[in-house]
Amino acid sequence: MFSSHAADIAVRFIHVSKIFSAAGSRVAALCDVSGEVPRGSVLTVIGPSGSGKSTLLALCNLLLTPDGGEVWVLGREVRRWNPPDLRRAAGLVFQRPAFVPGTVLDNLLLAARLHNRRAADPEAYLSEVGLPADVLLRDPRELSGGQQQRLALARTLVNDPEILLLDEITAALDPSASRDIESLILARRAERGTTVLWVTHDWEQARRVGDYTWLLVAGRLVKAAPTPQFFENPPDEQVQRFWGGEPEGGKMS
Ligand code: ADP
Ligand code: MG
Repeated sequence: MFSSHAADIAVRFIHVSKIFSAAGSRVAALCDVSGEVPRGSVLTVIGPSGSGKSTLLALCNLLLTPDGGEVWVLGREVRRWNPPDLRRAAGLVFQRPAFVPGTVLDNLLLAARLHNRRAADPEAYLSEVGLPADVLLRDPRELSGGQQQRLALARTLVNDPEILLLDEITAALDPSASRDIESLILARRAERGTTVLWVTHDWEQARRVGDYTWLLVAGRLVKAAPTPQFFENPPDEQVQRFWGGEPEGGKMS
């Protein structure tokens, strides 16, 4: 597991733990997680609600800091990164994007400005995510769920991130819109070698888009394998137990 050359690794988790204290009790959101994501690969992360998936992504761009262990992104431990630079390099997209009041254009320009970039050609950003130029002056809230998610991606891509952190970005979309988003991300990866850490509830999606897949259960990385092996038929007991207890994700075919 640790044989690969450091330069070939986009993200490395080394004995990572994250503890939350809430209402007097302590929750280990992540517990001794170690693993690495090769550059240019798509890692899909699955697991029940509350298993630490979002926490794992948040550690990669300093929305959270680890309580134990280290998280290395593009060859540097996250706490040695300047946060804006790190967030430019590792862009996070959520399930339900939030937009500032105003137009699609306002939102793109703001994203660019926040990162000291000029959105030189906003229409180009839109076409990259398959949105027509005529949405530029519309209110993002009028767009369909799929279009909003495309806009959220466009806003992140303004920074040309080397790493995309995707947190259940298709969970609110219908299957056809989800597939479109998948194609978009995979095209981007093919074109630019973008590394993708993709948290998803949908194990069919994890199987479709992943090169590697991790299963988190109660903050522990209980299974990590190249995606075809991960989902080998029949799925092993651990995977089956997980999907058995998680009907909304468990579309066993
Ligand atoms: P997932 O994304 O897999 O649903 P999360 O990473 O969001 O899981 O959460 C993992 C655990 O950490 C859960 O038990 C959750 O309640 C807890 N947790 C997450 N964020 C916080 C927080 N800011 N404060 C307290 N507990 C939190
Ligand atoms: Mg989550």
